[in-house]
Amino acid sequence: MTTVIDALVRPEIQAIPAYRVAAADGMIKLDAMENPYGWPDELKAEWLETLRGLDLNRYPDPNGEALHTALRETMGIGPEFELLLGNGSDELIQMLAMTVGGPGRRLLSLDPGFVMYRQIAQCAGMEYVGVPLRADFAIDLPAVLAAIERERPALIFLAYPNNPTGNRFDSEDMVRIIEAAPGLVVVDEAYAPFTDTSFLGLLGDWPNLLVMRTVSKMGLAGLRLGYLVGPRDWLAQIDKTRLPYNINVLTQVSAVFALRHKALFDAQTRAIREERARLFAALAALDGLHPYPSEANFILVRTPRGRAGGLFSALCERGVLVKNLDGSDPALADCLRITVGTPEENAVLVDALRAALCASG
Ligand code: PMP
Repeated sequence: MTTVIDALVRPEIQAIPAYRVAAADGMIKLDAMENPYGWPDELKAEWLETLRGLDLNRYPDPNGEALHTALRETMGIGPEFELLLGNGSDELIQMLAMTVGGPGRRLLSLDPGFVMYRQIAQCAGMEYVGVPLRADFAIDLPAVLAAIERERPALIFLAYPNNPTGNRFDSEDMVRIIEAAPGLVVVDEAYAPFTDTSFLGLLGDWPNLLVMRTVSKMGLAGLRLGYLVGPRDWLAQIDKTRLPYNINVLTQVSAVFALRHKALFDAQTRAIREERARLFAALAALDGLHPYPSEANFILVRTPRGRAGGLFSALCERGVLVKNLDGSDPALADCLRITVGTPEENAVLVDALRAALCASG
């Protein structure tokens, strides 16, 4: 049996680990960049009422027309651009790789970056080219331009702000990359709710620029809904890789409902941004920790040398789950990534970190 598996499963699939998510039952969950705030009871009741009319025996609207309209209105997307929906922006990354992938095709991004760019490239049979960021996590422009010249990537992803570093790249550097790229450049704005600038307004300035967003981080991670915006001719091709009915009926109806209440999510993301500043100050005040400034809803923290694993475990014992990035990339040695939680959750985290640093320091 093993030999059949060895013989048939593509070597690049055998070579990669599956994407694993840590068990988080009962824990303070600060590992996955979720919005920690729920909905008021009246809003929940109103939402459940909208689900009452659904027929689960029928397939959903294949094109999600009502959702398209709601997204266009709330996000200010003009009729000159097309919109493509994905089951999370993860699925859009996959659709993009399927569209331009194939033997000899390359996907370029910046490391450390979002792990799914590499994983999906490998699954789609593309070669992943990761260009290291500078020590301050800024774009190393000469290195990126040289890699573009050498590798001629079909697809480039620039996360703006970047995960897991939390910074926003210099937009001039990004423009230079868009202009030098022989293929598509996707600006991944998953963390748009937590920063003030966007490439949405620059769409159309270059024929190879697409912007990708998600509703996950604004507070709807459970719905699994991402969207890609860009020129019609590109999106018409990418749409061919979309599976029929990829956005289920519960997501379509719930997202339309939620977007009607966008003010609530705006208030929540504002609160997260304020809390991010408080958490940053609290982390910076702890001896030995170096938090990096963030434009997202998480903070990357460098811990004293060799301590990340021990601190991660000590936090788990206190019921707090963060992400241990030590070992995932040379630039992330000793690093933890902490999602901004509620003030109460962050207080528990900071107390637990303080205790753990003292205990074994
Ligand atoms: N892009 C970036 C930069 C991310 O960090 C994430 C999730 N962590 C995603 C895309 C995927 O988001 P989703 O599939 O939930 O839309």
